[in-house]
Amino acid sequence: MKKYLRIILEVLLVLLLVAAVAFAYINYSGKKHASDDLSQSSEELDQTKDALDKATEDLDAYKEKVAALTKDQVQLNALKSAFANGVVLADVDALYKKEKTIGADRQVGLGALRLLTNGVGDPNTIAAFQKTLDLAEWNTRLQTVCAAQNALMAAGQKVTVLADCNKDGSVGKADDDTQKKNKELSEKDFKWGYDGDTGPEHWGDNFPTCAKGKKQSPMNIIGPFEKAKETLTVDYKEGALKMLNNGHTIQVLPEAGSTMMVNKDVFDLLEVHFHRPSEEEVDGKNSPMVIHLVHKNKKGKMAVMAVLINEGKENPAIKLLWANLPPKDKEGVEYAPPKVVFNPSALLPTDLSHFTYEGSLSTPPCTEGVMNYVMKNSIDLSKGQINKFPFKVNARPVQDFNGRKIAETK
Ligand SMILES: [Zn+2]
Repeated sequence: MKKYLRIILEVLLVLLLVAAVAFAYINYSGKKHASDDLSQSSEELDQTKDALDKATEDLDAYKEKVAALTKDQVQLNALKSAFANGVVLADVDALYKKEKTIGADRQVGLGALRLLTNGVGDPNTIAAFQKTLDLAEWNTRLQTVCAAQNALMAAGQKVTVLADCNKDGSVGKADDDTQKKNKELSEKDFKWGYDGDTGPEHWGDNFPTCAKGKKQSPMNIIGPFEKAKETLTVDYKEGALKMLNNGHTIQVLPEAGSTMMVNKDVFDLLEVHFHRPSEEEVDGKNSPMVIHLVHKNKKGKMAVMAVLINEGKENPAIKLLWANLPPKDKEGVEYAPPKVVFNPSALLPTDLSHFTYEGSLSTPPCTEGVMNYVMKNSIDLSKGQINKFPFKVNARPVQDFNGRKIAETK
């Protein structure tokens, strides 16, 4: 009996041991599992937090965008309802009908009015009009006009879209008929001149800077003068003579590499041309003629040197030029008489002391930001030479100072 008891006890002990080991293993394995699960969950939680942060940021950005759009929409709606009855458009239309030509600014204004009055039902029109507004804030005048004109076309208005508009991919295409009309229109626009309907007072109709610019050339050279800070040195090259009658003046096209230094800034000589009488006045008086030498530097800045012409001795350099003028039927075509060489420095006085002011091109488009240097020393042409110049009058009158000062070299 005692023997059995011992065996039973031993078996019980072994079972207990096995149970203890099994319990320990199960316990260990379960904890490990749980901790793996936990670390995975915390990773997922981090990812979710990141995604939530990102979504909150996006939401804020969209909120701002929506707020901005809503403001635009409210303004647009206010404008639309103010103009929708058509009275404003009719009034402005009638006002502009009294004028021969309508400038680019007014076209845009009229276009916008027509859109607001007639085009409100068409979502494309509104989109195009929005584009016009966008462009108006930052882009060029031409693009604004194009966008407005195309918007009007989209609204079903009969509009002539400028030829230039079709070169820009961002604005729509005109049909063939319109393109043909555009070409005629732009050719008509381009025929500016020096008298009558196409004279300087009318340039602003098609080239707004000519009328609205505040730094226009030429000027009346009159004191008191400030002190000029620039020194001019020229390095023009001799080369085969090339000339061009562009319909407004005679141009001499220089040899490549002909330059003028304004202090240390290098300007390339682009072309030399003539005006009769001189555009610039000195103390309110024109000279019989003037030579303009047009330069441009690498940054696109322009500098025009002006050499006034007095009536006096015959000028040998001009004698050579006038003996080789382009034939009458060669307008707009570069003309190079054989075996004639020329150096534009033959047209300059030896002393380059000057008056200087910030101005513009004195022909359309009247671009500003042009430095003008008017030589104090003139050159002589004989009366016969002055009369032989093929253009009788091709000079723009002097322009307002608008607070500008003229400087002079001492
Ligand atoms: Zn000129």
